[in-house]
Amino acid sequence: MAQVQRMSRLMIKTLRDDPADAETLSHKLLVRAGYVRRNAAGIWTWLPLGKKVLENVTRVVREEMDAIGGQEVLLPALLPKEPYEASGRWDEYGDLLFRVKDRKGGDYLLGPTHEEVFTQTVKDQCTSYKDLPVILYQIQTKYRDEARPRSGVLRGREFQMKDAYSFDTSDEGLAESYALHREAYQNIFRRLGLDFRICSAVSGAMGGSASEEFLAPAAAGEDTFVDCPECDYAANTEAVTFALQPVEGQDHPALEELDTPDTPTIETLAEHLGVPASATLKNLLVKVDGEIVAVGVPGDREVDLGKLGEQLSPAVVELVTAEDFEGRDDLVRGYVGPQGLEKVRYIADPRVAPGTSWITGANKPDTHAKNVVCGRDFEVDDYVDVVVVEEGDPCPKCGAGVKLDRAIEIGHIFQLGRKYADTFQLDVLGKEGKPVRVTMGSYGIGVSRAVAALAEQSADDKGLCWAPEVAPADVHVVAAGKAAQTELALEVAEKLGAAGVRVLVDDRAGVSPGVKFTDAELIGVPTVLVAGRRTAEGVVELKDRRTGEREELPVAEAIARIT
Ligand code: ATP
Ligand code: MG
Ligand code: MG
Ligand code: MG
Repeated sequence: MAQVQRMSRLMIKTLRDDPADAETLSHKLLVRAGYVRRNAAGIWTWLPLGKKVLENVTRVVREEMDAIGGQEVLLPALLPKEPYEASGRWDEYGDLLFRVKDRKGGDYLLGPTHEEVFTQTVKDQCTSYKDLPVILYQIQTKYRDEARPRSGVLRGREFQMKDAYSFDTSDEGLAESYALHREAYQNIFRRLGLDFRICSAVSGAMGGSASEEFLAPAAAGEDTFVDCPECDYAANTEAVTFALQPVEGQDHPALEELDTPDTPTIETLAEHLGVPASATLKNLLVKVDGEIVAVGVPGDREVDLGKLGEQLSPAVVELVTAEDFEGRDDLVRGYVGPQGLEKVRYIADPRVAPGTSWITGANKPDTHAKNVVCGRDFEVDDYVDVVVVEEGDPCPKCGAGVKLDRAIEIGHIFQLGRKYADTFQLDVLGKEGKPVRVTMGSYGIGVSRAVAALAEQSADDKGLCWAPEVAPADVHVVAAGKAAQTELALEVAEKLGAAGVRVLVDDRAGVSPGVKFTDAELIGVPTVLVAGRRTAEGVVELKDRRTGEREELPVAEAIARIT
């Protein structure tokens, strides 16, 4: 017996108008259809229907994680500072971290991701190679004080993430664990009905080497990815970053030098880049009062020049120089080279005399090297710059003209290697009786974000339109007429429920059929069953929410069709 939810008893208030602050389709529709409710910037309540969809996504994720041998655990979200201090992320995360003090003045944080604590857990629980490999995961609330928590649940400051961590004794083992997750993620996103691409990615603050993102193409996405129509090459533009050093005697028409003033203001900086002073840039490093404040690690730390200008007015911003990178191993990022994703560090352009300033990477066409081939035009590892990719640029793998698309990052998998194991000295006793350093992977899915991504990809001009696996119900029964039809609707609903079908039945009195139909389309349950309007006695209408196809059938036949 599946649940029959009567709308007369459901806490739901649908809205005709979009919320004033909503920019994205999913934000508008999830609020209007009564799935979520905003409490504060980036902080959301999941209302009954929304909670059902969230649970459905969670169930699929859990089933596929269990299928690869993942063991579910639940770690605290409120965490002591020390492990994050040990890994360096207490500082590295900067403003993104929610920091809390307890009554004794002790420092805590609300977990943005849990590599440190999982490493400690395994150090505590596993002592021998026989205890490994192990895959642990949790589905838990995460906290990140995002700079721009817009777009509804797509970018929350509190959100649900499935984070998993693998622990192996060898590189081959890690590669296997990574492959298992990659496969599981494909199963998850397929079952959810999401259109996605697997893209090369940068590792960012997570550290480690190889990493791939699962990107769901959607206009509301905050990522841009390079997509090759001819081969399987796909990469986040953040990852299409090369380490370049001009090769002697080679012509470099694509390189353009910037004539940079010594102490530029926000205005001169913007002018330099040829962008408005209010522009948002990625991959930009600047110094303020001698401190590198805007390490443009993609995504989290975009530099909003206007905001920076406001904060620092009168703004005196220096551009970084080669010396700034001395001893700064944190200024490391990956790039996609001929051998796939590799790790390099930022070093300022050596052609610029020491002391002169230089911009390291700003996503502005024609101010940087384009279409260069590592090894041919440049030697890797001397300075890193951003290669601005444009539509039609040659694919690094096959040379065909690439496409650029917007997408939502719904998942991210990393081969972390031994970074955290080194920090916490995570060793197990190996086969030969000697300690072996453990190697790790970390694997995230934005569970709450996936709900919004699904809404983005499947909605039409009438409203939401869920795939069966995630929909809050299988059938939306609409009682569209007099009391007798309400009786019929409830009867049909009960029969469907008894057959294991999840039913939402609109039995609201005093609500016109027109409003009920509009609400049914807005709510987006896959099948709509209309009891009693323009139909003969005992005949109902079945409607497919996605295609709009309708058919009139006797009650018994309609029930048989659905069950
Ligand atoms: P983004 O680039 O969108 O800021 P991220 O790269 O910082 O995401 P990860 O650290 O890779 O995120 O976290 C794993 C997953 O958690 C992401 O792939 C994404 O699906 C989800 N996620 C990250 N930040 C948020 C957020 N603020 N709100 C909802 N989901 C998020
Ligand atoms: Mg990202
Ligand atoms: Mg982020
Ligand atoms: Mg990521």
